[in-house]
Amino acid sequence: MKIIPLTIPTPFYIVDVNVYLIKEEPLTLIDIGPKTGEASETLRDKLRQNGVQIADIRRIVLTHAHVDHCGLTKQVRDEAKNAEIFIHKWESGHLFGSLDNEEQRNLMNRAGVPPEVFRKIQDTFNDVGLLTDTVDKDEFSELYDEMELEFSGGILKVLHTPGHTPGSCSFFREANRTLIAGDCVLKRITPNPVISADPIDKNKRFKSLAEYLVSLAKIRSCSPTLIYGGHGEPIDDYEELFHRYVRSIDERQKQVVELVSTNGTTPFGIAQKLFPQAIEKEVHRFLAISEAVAHLDYAETEGKIAVEVKEGIEFYRKI
Ligand SMILES: [Zn+2]
Repeated sequence: MKIIPLTIPTPFYIVDVNVYLIKEEPLTLIDIGPKTGEASETLRDKLRQNGVQIADIRRIVLTHAHVDHCGLTKQVRDEAKNAEIFIHKWESGHLFGSLDNEEQRNLMNRAGVPPEVFRKIQDTFNDVGLLTDTVDKDEFSELYDEMELEFSGGILKVLHTPGHTPGSCSFFREANRTLIAGDCVLKRITPNPVISADPIDKNKRFKSLAEYLVSLAKIRSCSPTLIYGGHGEPIDDYEELFHRYVRSIDERQKQVVELVSTNGTTPFGIAQKLFPQAIEKEVHRFLAISEAVAHLDYAETEGKIAVEVKEGIEFYRKI
């Protein structure tokens, strides 16, 4: 099976996103890049270099619905005359930039984020949302765990690997133990478990870090020899990376547990202490809050700290 990585520019600090062309019948793209003129031109050029035109694409498969991965979906789908779009249904919360403001407001309120900071987060969401078109719920087919995507040269098996987002999926080629993993596994950075509502019960929060650890172990059980991530170079030493991830998550857990006070600290308070600089900056602010919440949730589930909810705001404290 011919898996061809195409590097597409993004306006984010992460710089480039990896799109994968599966040069088999039906011609498929895994992820697609953000909706910018530069990304669209680069995608077109790189496809052409591989003897492919956008009009030839038959299938668009998305690892998850962050704008750097999904932004051009609608444009490409339309130009390719109704190529079929595939994504996990749990990505609906993030669906193509149309983040539910009310849902986000509840998540941020609970985390003790002050209203003026939430307004800044909303502004960032609005800016980021411009990098994608909205795709309606009836315009895509659902990916699900263990589903098989058939190609002329073999099969890619869908693995539901939640954590970075609730509906994140990876694609496994058993024949040569190759995995396309989106933002679940990245060579140089530990992916952020982004704060989300629970897709099954919107009043609850998705246990992103606990789910992420399960996904990392699930990938390990496949013994992949090569992993193509959503950003950066491919990974040929997953076993080592897995241990590095687990160690860094463990260190962050200890750090977070130590920062929790006896009187109680909100997740926003912890995020400020963990990332005093990032908390002042656009997307980083949201990611810093996500990281704090993910670790507090996990530490509380593990019985390392306690949580008390006062007037809808969480306060974590030492036991
Ligand atoms: Zn992502």
